[in-house]
Amino acid sequence: MSLFSRLAFEKSAHGLADLPVTRREIAFAGRSNAGKSSAINALAGRRAAFVSKTPGRTQLINFFRIADGDYLVDLPGYGYARVPEAVRRQWQKVLSRYLEGRQSLVGLVLIMDARHPLTPLDRQMIHWFSPTQRPLHCLLTKADKLSRSEAARTLRLVQRELAEIWPAATVQLFSSLKKEGLVEAEAVLARWLGRAA
Ligand code: GDP
Repeated sequence: MSLFSRLAFEKSAHGLADLPVTRREIAFAGRSNAGKSSAINALAGRRAAFVSKTPGRTQLINFFRIADGDYLVDLPGYGYARVPEAVRRQWQKVLSRYLEGRQSLVGLVLIMDARHPLTPLDRQMIHWFSPTQRPLHCLLTKADKLSRSEAARTLRLVQRELAEIWPAATVQLFSSLKKEGLVEAEAVLARWLGRAA
């Protein structure tokens, strides 16, 4: 049985004041429409997270129970163009404070569309999180939309750029559609939690 096969939605928090007490959390962040919900569903092996048709609507922080006290946290997607400036600023405040200050956060998974990796907002997330010195793992999603050679080239480019901004970060190709990269991702997250993948 995989680490995430019992993943179960537990609660949506509306803001920082509303976050539940947890022992350990792994957060998933990414631009809206990058494929975050699909990646969570792929890891769970079923539809655990909602896949949005209208990106950028929700500001909820969704908590999924992995197992006793350990949670996967689905952060609100960022970068959706049609969001009013005041709302955008509020999201940034929530994301920055969560990434900088959440004590039970053991690692961050950054979801990036393999065709558009390391956008300024992705770099902003890394900038907020890196002072915590906790691990970062990047999933380059929708890798099935690239040819094998394009995907390999993208992986090398992102590895090279991350080596400059945060050498401890790891990165891999991922496809929810083709179920590629699941074993590799699970192994990383299981290591963070000291559990079997
Ligand atoms: P989120 O906003 O980051 O949660 O993104 P979603 O998971 O809702 O996915 C956004 C869109 O990308 C949806 O139409 C998905 O079907 C599509 N998508 C997500 N992952 C993949 C993938 O690995 N391959 C392909 N081809 N499409 C994907």
